Amino acid sequence: AAAPAEAEGATALSVLRRVFGYDAFRGSQQEVVEHVIGGGDALVLMPTGGGKSLCYQIPALVRPGTGVVVSPLIALMQDQVDALRALGVRAGFLNSSQGYDERRLVEAEFLAGELDLLYLAPERLRVEATVRLLERGAISLFAIDEAHCVAQWGHDFRPDYLALSELRAHWPDVPRIALTATATEATHAEITSRLGLEDARHFVASFDRPNIQYRIAPKDEPKKQLLHLLRTEHPGDAGIVYCLSRASVDKTAAYLVEHGIDALPYHAGLDGRVRAENQSRFLREDGMVMVATIAFGMGIDKPDVRFVAHLDLPKSVEGYYQETGRAGRDGLPSTAWLAYGLQDVVQQRKMIDTSEGDQAHRRRLGAYVDAMLALCETVECRRVRLLDYFGQKSGPCGNCDTCLTPPDSWDGTVAAQKFLSTIVRLQRERRQKFGATQIADILMGRKTAKVIQFDHDGLSVFGVGADLSEAEWRSVARQLLAQGLVAVEGEYGTLVLTEDSAEVLGGRRPVALRRDPEKVRAAKARSGG
Ligand code: ADP
Ligand code: ZN
Repeated sequence: AAAPAEAEGATALSVLRRVFGYDAFRGSQQEVVEHVIGGGDALVLMPTGGGKSLCYQIPALVRPGTGVVVSPLIALMQDQVDALRALGVRAGFLNSSQGYDERRLVEAEFLAGELDLLYLAPERLRVEATVRLLERGAISLFAIDEAHCVAQWGHDFRPDYLALSELRAHWPDVPRIALTATATEATHAEITSRLGLEDARHFVASFDRPNIQYRIAPKDEPKKQLLHLLRTEHPGDAGIVYCLSRASVDKTAAYLVEHGIDALPYHAGLDGRVRAENQSRFLREDGMVMVATIAFGMGIDKPDVRFVAHLDLPKSVEGYYQETGRAGRDGLPSTAWLAYGLQDVVQQRKMIDTSEGDQAHRRRLGAYVDAMLALCETVECRRVRLLDYFGQKSGPCGNCDTCLTPPDSWDGTVAAQKFLSTIVRLQRERRQKFGATQIADILMGRKTAKVIQFDHDGLSVFGVGADLSEAEWRSVARQLLAQGLVAVEGEYGTLVLTEDSAEVLGGRRPVALRRDPEKVRAAKARSGG
């Protein structure tokens, strides 16, 4: 007889070919599959589109008993199960969307040993009856999909996932495989400890998605910028556009439709049927553009999404990477495009300040935004920064905006001093708070109504910054924020000094700033004409 490992490998490969119709495993799939078939626990960190599902589906088919898959994606369970059944896999699911009879039927199939895979919503495991049901059947493995949802301080925590920490004690002999596409070191560590995976083998795939071109642009007129991108680079392509609020989803979708783009809205405020309908049109029809809040996309498997655009700053680098990862699963060139402005940061700070949770939680959320901002304002390769965030080292990629059009850097020390000393003067007016717009207007010497109202045209800094445009001052403001030389405070986005500001004001610290490539061209055009 063949050695057990060989026999298992052969079985796994034959299932891959016979059931799923693929020729070969990808990346570390085979290693994971063999490890789990052998009864080992695993933690799999793989980027979106990397092929996580097969890592538990094949072991579930090879091992005796039912593979129990815990997934938060209730809305997709029906589709997932239908797709598996179409391949001849005996799959079923249990979640709150089902009626009593339907549930009883699935339970009976499970108990009779007639299911290869059983998908469960995490809250089901909090129900005593479900636990008793599982105890009465034969389980081949537990797969914990979207495992980052167990990380309490992560960007997508779901309280129901905490119940999963009891699986090990309850079923010590059943292998557990946890999978996620988001994995900073902190999240990785928290998943490991909460799920008791210290002894599990950790499979960490490269997070690089080389076919995705990352681009981040200053926000000017976001809808117009988006339309330009779609018309010039992605006519007729399928894509996803993320907006922060439901209102801006609706407005953006309507705007695109008005301009001849096949766009659909998706957010939690829409009727369930409309949402399901829009989702299925996006999946089945060619060239649809889905305009959505981040409620959309987890678990969506559409290989030919050619672009993912963000019209607002994502809340974290982890979220951004997961969302952009939905582009180009087929390996073909795709675009990840983000437009952001200072107002985004102000808005996020406001949301954090008014969010639930304690001080530590808010600090954490603030740090997420800071990391996102630093990515936006970097003069380095975007991919180097992104991968570094996930603890992976790499060299300049040649396929991101900073590699393709390296930003000039310029000595922004004097500009920074002007900006900061305007803040110093405004801070003397204790009752009144001002943001970046007022500062730019003062520096540029604009007599706006608000400048006149507060006598700001009488300040000594009035007009001392006329050498820079409004867009350039906005860029200065964003970069000072990214460098920690100013901070945003309160409801109106007041800019205030930080501990480090004094060094710049005192001339002890030079400030290097990036010049956005568009600005370079505009400046050259100005000086040439
Ligand atoms: P993830 O869950 O990691 O985002 P999926 O499991 O949904 O990724 O797989 C992404 C896509 O790649 C799916 O369309 C899947 O069918 C395909 N795929 C996965 N593994 C293979 C393979 N070994 N060969 C060919 N295609 C694969
Ligand atoms: Zn690059």
